[in-house]
Amino acid sequence: METRIIDGNALARKLRESLKTRTTQLTAGGNTPGLAVIIVGENPASKIYVRNKVKACAEVGIHSEHIELPEATSEADLLAHIARLNADPRIHGILVQLPLPKHISTDAVLNAIDPKKDADGFHPMNVGLLATGNPRFAPCTPAGVMAMLEDEGINPWGMNAVVVGASNIVGKPAALLLLQKGATVTICNSKTRDLASHTRAADIVVVATGKVNLVTADMVKEGAVVIDVGMNRNAEGKLCGDADYQGMLGKVSHITPVPGGVGPMTITMLLANTVLSAERVAKTQSR
Ligand code: NAP
Repeated sequence: METRIIDGNALARKLRESLKTRTTQLTAGGNTPGLAVIIVGENPASKIYVRNKVKACAEVGIHSEHIELPEATSEADLLAHIARLNADPRIHGILVQLPLPKHISTDAVLNAIDPKKDADGFHPMNVGLLATGNPRFAPCTPAGVMAMLEDEGINPWGMNAVVVGASNIVGKPAALLLLQKGATVTICNSKTRDLASHTRAADIVVVATGKVNLVTADMVKEGAVVIDVGMNRNAEGKLCGDADYQGMLGKVSHITPVPGGVGPMTITMLLANTVLSAERVAKTQSR
């Protein structure tokens, strides 16, 4: 079977073009979308992510505010920044880069973000809305996964979908979005007995564990769709996912590469959530 490689960079470019059009319209109406990104501490990987987010905003015409705080910032100081951004009408999306230093409660911080500006979709109210089938903001990485399936014309309705990984950021919301699209969903975690017995039954396998080569070609059925969210370094220091990409070529119908698969979609969906939030504000103003 010929395997189709899903090009996340190409889809991200296409979606960003349409976001640019929406941003131009919003700006013409005096509602330029705005995203604030807060980073606390010196984590080099987080700094790169934040820089990429700010750059991507500029490319599609989103105003961005980048707040870098020292590692020793108190929780109260961080909450004060969030309160200011919650009240700032130029800001439609607020993202606090995780992980936070240990002395700051992630829950307290996520709970403090105005749910209407929660472009990451991690506020408990937005998690609840997602779980009950009315997402206000779908978390960015799982939203990127769904956008890739849609663009490929893959309708999960009635399919068996297995999500390997159950984090709040990726696995759980991906499973909820697939369920809402009519898939029969199984979520696996590190305690799952006989992972292969689940993945072999899947029409769609989404892998998000951070474990190199966890899902190999013998663990998926012929013609399955494999979406690899993992972002790892292999023994040679090269970027790779959680699935055996080379081994699956010729067996699966679709696969996402790493890099160039889900990665570029995550930032794009963050931009999309920010634009959506600004459109909601513009709509209330026009009433
Ligand atoms: P995480 O919070 O560490 O969660 C990992 C999940 O995988 C957990 O639910 C864990 O199970 C499960 N797991 C670990 N080993 C397993 C095994 N042997 N079999 C089955 N399940 C197993 O990670 P995350 O934040 O979801 O991220 C997962 C991966 O995606 C990482 O490589 C990360 O870098 C990548 N990622 C990429 C993007 C992107 O934009 N491409 C965005 C976010 C994350 P337990 O619940 O039992 O611990």
